[in-house]
Amino acid sequence: MFAPLVEWLRRRRIPFSENAPISPHLYFRIGGLVSLLVPAPTMEVFAAVLQELAAAGSPALVIGGGSNIVFPDGLTRAAVLLAPAPPQVEARLLGDGVLQVQAAVRNGPFLAWCAVLGAGGMEFLSGIPGTLGGAVAVNAGAFGRSMSDVLLGADIVDETGARRAVDAAHFDFRYRDSRFKLGREAVLSLRLRFAAGDGAAVAKKTREHLEYRVRRHPSYRLASAGCFFKNPLLNGAKTSAGIVIEKCGLKGTRCGDLAVAEEHANFLLNRGHGTFADLQRLEEKIRATVAARAGIVLEREVIYVSPDGEKY
Ligand SMILES: Cc1cc2nc3c(=O)[nH]c(=O)nc-3n(C[C@H](O)[C@H](O)[C@H](O)COP(=O)(O)OP(=O)(O)OC[C@H]3O[C@@H](n4cnc5c(N)ncnc54)[C@H](O)[C@@H]3O)c2cc1C
Repeated sequence: MFAPLVEWLRRRRIPFSENAPISPHLYFRIGGLVSLLVPAPTMEVFAAVLQELAAAGSPALVIGGGSNIVFPDGLTRAAVLLAPAPPQVEARLLGDGVLQVQAAVRNGPFLAWCAVLGAGGMEFLSGIPGTLGGAVAVNAGAFGRSMSDVLLGADIVDETGARRAVDAAHFDFRYRDSRFKLGREAVLSLRLRFAAGDGAAVAKKTREHLEYRVRRHPSYRLASAGCFFKNPLLNGAKTSAGIVIEKCGLKGTRCGDLAVAEEHANFLLNRGHGTFADLQRLEEKIRATVAARAGIVLEREVIYVSPDGEKY
């Protein structure tokens, strides 16, 4: 199925592996094999592979930091493209409170760069793992702010393989969602609005946000994908899914090696060799219990991938 791409990659000496394990690239460590895995060495290669696949009619499944996605236990018939890990923060100030940053840049180093330059307004990303491309695709957020509050536009590769600039409206942002979350377009770089300020104040806020999370969340060394369910609406107001799950007495509930965290009931933890099947069973158990006891229908925030490589 991917023979032409394999040939194309070989000719250009771009590294790839066939029938490769995907779980080492995911925070949750859940997933079997993928037909083709391409760890893009640079953003130029990343864009070129996307364009080649789009031309062949089988667009790639893009992974940024892998902190919000899991794969099935068996083989996933898909070409998976891993964003490069840039050795330094590829970002620049464009003036007038606007900066441009490459999508593969990790949130942590980006915030350190913001602190040096006194670029405020993005501190809410502190402690959220992953890349800026992943953050904008899922409209990541915390402390009442999310990527939709700061994104002005982006350079993308669309489903036809065309590289083009789009504005924020193209993202069709919703709560923890955008057209990129389950779609096939990929972000190459982002233009973000920032508030010019004092670098020390940016650094302080970034540190405080991180400390708050470290106090309230399970250890970041444990395998998870952060909050598993979206916060539901209750009488028109957002309610913490974690508190709802906790009140239903589900803390510590296990299915195989998957468990509801004791520290925060919206974190599901992979305690060793958890499988996708375990995760689905635990998800259903939580969903059914919460529906029966609290009358609330929980919606999953974490992304699943089907054996055909479709995100859902
Ligand atoms: C401990 C922990 C805490 C967390 N806390 C939070 C939190 O407070 N708030 C929050 O919102 N999330 C949180 N998360 C979830 C996750 O970290 C965020 O959603 C993060 O922004 C995802 O980024 P990523 O690069 O890892 O995306 P990935 O998991 O790699 O991908 C997520 C989605 O984005 C797409 N994608 C990735 N890169 C690109 C790109 N360049 N172009 C187009 N699409 C792309 C993927 O195809 C996929 O659909 C947490 C996760 C963990 C493990």
